[in-house]
Amino acid sequence: MKKLLLLFILFLTTVITAQDYYLQCGKIVDPQSGGLLSEKTIIVSGDRIKSIQDGFVNGTSNDKVIDLKSKFVLPGFIDMHVHIEGESSPSRYIERFTKNEADIAFQSTVYAERTLMAGFTTVRDLGGSGVNIALRNAINKGVVKGPRIFTAGKAIGTTGGHADPTNGMKKELMGDPGPMEGVVNSPEDAKKAVRQRYKNGADVIKITATGGVMSVAKNGQNPQFTEEEIRGIVEAAKDYGMLTAAHAHGDEGMQRAVKGGIKTIEHGTLMSEETMDLMIQHKTYLVPTISAGKAAAEMAEIPGFLPPIVAQKAREIGPVSQATFGKAYKKGVPIAFGTDAGVSPHGENGKEFGFMHEAGMPIIETIRSATIINAELLGMENDLGQLKGGFLADIIAVDENPLKNVNTLENVVFVMKNGEVFKQ
Ligand SMILES: [Zn+2]
Repeated sequence: MKKLLLLFILFLTTVITAQDYYLQCGKIVDPQSGGLLSEKTIIVSGDRIKSIQDGFVNGTSNDKVIDLKSKFVLPGFIDMHVHIEGESSPSRYIERFTKNEADIAFQSTVYAERTLMAGFTTVRDLGGSGVNIALRNAINKGVVKGPRIFTAGKAIGTTGGHADPTNGMKKELMGDPGPMEGVVNSPEDAKKAVRQRYKNGADVIKITATGGVMSVAKNGQNPQFTEEEIRGIVEAAKDYGMLTAAHAHGDEGMQRAVKGGIKTIEHGTLMSEETMDLMIQHKTYLVPTISAGKAAAEMAEIPGFLPPIVAQKAREIGPVSQATFGKAYKKGVPIAFGTDAGVSPHGENGKEFGFMHEAGMPIIETIRSATIINAELLGMENDLGQLKGGFLADIIAVDENPLKNVNTLENVVFVMKNGEVFKQ
């Protein structure tokens, strides 16, 4: 009884002395209204925003004031397409044979921290070795600094397809990977691969609906799934409450993915007007990844950086994505912000805002796509993407007015995630 009483007193003192943060914000960029709010104080208690008050408020002597009076404050950004485990380099292909999971894990912590410091407090990881699942857990436990991760684990492809892990290897190493490894060849295989990912701890499902640029294979745009296989994926993913994403460059594979019920189309490079209409009709989102298209095209010009078979595709497909995005946006295709960082360097995710704006999207809409819209897609619309009482305290700041200078979003100077300050 005495012990209980002691515990209760201890509990009371922690509650009374609990430190709240008072973020005194000169300006807040509100993605919902599209406007700027002046002189507000965001009060953060634990991992959530308690309230937002007018003027600059100080709290009690226990509380901590953070001076953001000269800054522009925004909700933490969400990137719907990263590969946190790796980054493009000339040795990337050989590393498939030399790196152990532990090597990937150590390296991924560096990329995760870089991403968080760039103001991206949440990411969707669309495929790696499965280390991304352990990384998510380590970040959630506070062992590693990084963004909140929703991960696909290992992406799902077809035999010889973009996500077949043994592409380009010699015969003895190729083997015949199956649903366990994320390679499927029937609707039944497709369901099994989804269920396997669920079991492994993945949050979302990624398929490679067409050929891709960075895999060691000839075609970068052919359809690689039948519509029935895609339906198998989508049905199983729905059962387990998992969001679905399809990598797609070519139009036919893209159409099959949209008709099959996939929620986000990644890249969408060679999208036809007909497919744009279909996406509007099905409320399918385009994740443009202009950063990756540009990065791939640049790498193709550096001698020896990419294998010749990859460089050829990078030259053809890379430069097209920005123009396609511009057309799709103007036509009314729903847009979700995503970079494909890992192809482009981690921590430079903010460049995508400028690329989207350059193609004709107003700056506030680029910000909305990286906050409110992505939060909704992840089923986190009551927790993320806005600065409001009750929401998770993911708060960032930049020096200049981003609505006037979009490039300021590449230089995030303050980062709070889950009520914890990571950059100041
Ligand atoms: Zn990708």
